[in-house]
Amino acid sequence: MDTPVFRSGFITIIGAPNVGKSTLLNTIMHTKLAIVSPKPQTTRHRILGVKNLPHAQLVFLDTPGIHQPRTQLNRYMMQAVVEALASPEVVLYMTAVGQTPYPDLGFLQRHLGRRDVPVFWVLNKIDLLPPHEVLPIIAACDEKGFFAEVLPLSAHRGDNVPALLDSVVRYLPAGPQYFPEDMPTDRDERFLIAELIREQAFLLTNEEVPYAIAVEVESLHERSDGGVEIDASLIVEKESQKGIVIGRQGRLIKAIGTQARHAIGHMLHCPVHLRLLVRVKKRWKEREAILRDLGFGELS
Ligand code: GDP
Ligand code: MG
Repeated sequence: MDTPVFRSGFITIIGAPNVGKSTLLNTIMHTKLAIVSPKPQTTRHRILGVKNLPHAQLVFLDTPGIHQPRTQLNRYMMQAVVEALASPEVVLYMTAVGQTPYPDLGFLQRHLGRRDVPVFWVLNKIDLLPPHEVLPIIAACDEKGFFAEVLPLSAHRGDNVPALLDSVVRYLPAGPQYFPEDMPTDRDERFLIAELIREQAFLLTNEEVPYAIAVEVESLHERSDGGVEIDASLIVEKESQKGIVIGRQGRLIKAIGTQARHAIGHMLHCPVHLRLLVRVKKRWKEREAILRDLGFGELS
């Protein structure tokens, strides 16, 4: 019997904010690599997830949602999207029912140029509709001829995700194992910890406040009792936001800390001691030095 060819490649997930791109990455990976919230623009970086199958390695790139950048932070977020389109083997263009059901191909076509990359239309959140309402959405799209495959699925429930993986593998070329099997992502622990804290801050604040917050892990120490001690700062733009994030009698910062501590403990499988500070850094979203410390603007 012939040995099957080993296939590999990069698969970029793109789409409007909030359609479920990060949820899909997490479902595929069976672990939480990318933070998720009901608010748009939760994802600020390119997040890589390596999925190992018996005869294939699929390297997924989750990206920030496509939007018009108004700050330097947002320009870096969009740069991450554009860079993730530089040389993928497959693109998953995601939309969501009840949201932005139809793909808008302008951005994608501008950035793929004449390159012949298979693009899948992934229609997410089909769990929100009765099954007979899903196919008419696809049928009504004039652009579906552009797509190599069209896959309705529920990233949240996992429906049709195995079929998506099977289809992706069929479009991958024979290739090497790019990453060792025990390396699910290229992000380090510090990054993932900062993101888990930011996720709670995002979930527990409203209006402009979640968008004013960045998180920096200042120190990370293992303790002799097997736990870890983490000091992290929540950076905000204004004094008034600092007051909001701290909350009355410190209640909000305490809630963020408690929930983040659970999430980090779950990831690291050990007890976590977390100290959070709130710092004001005016106009941080426009300041190159601060953005660089937060991991933006690095060429990947
Ligand atoms: P992203 O901005 O595209 O990365 O979207 P997220 O993954 O952060 O998800 C945005 C919101 O949509 C979150 O509240 C998710 O829980 C929700 N969501 C994601 N996938 C699904 C799905 O398959 N079904 C439903 N009902 N909600 C989903
Ligand atoms: Mg996301």
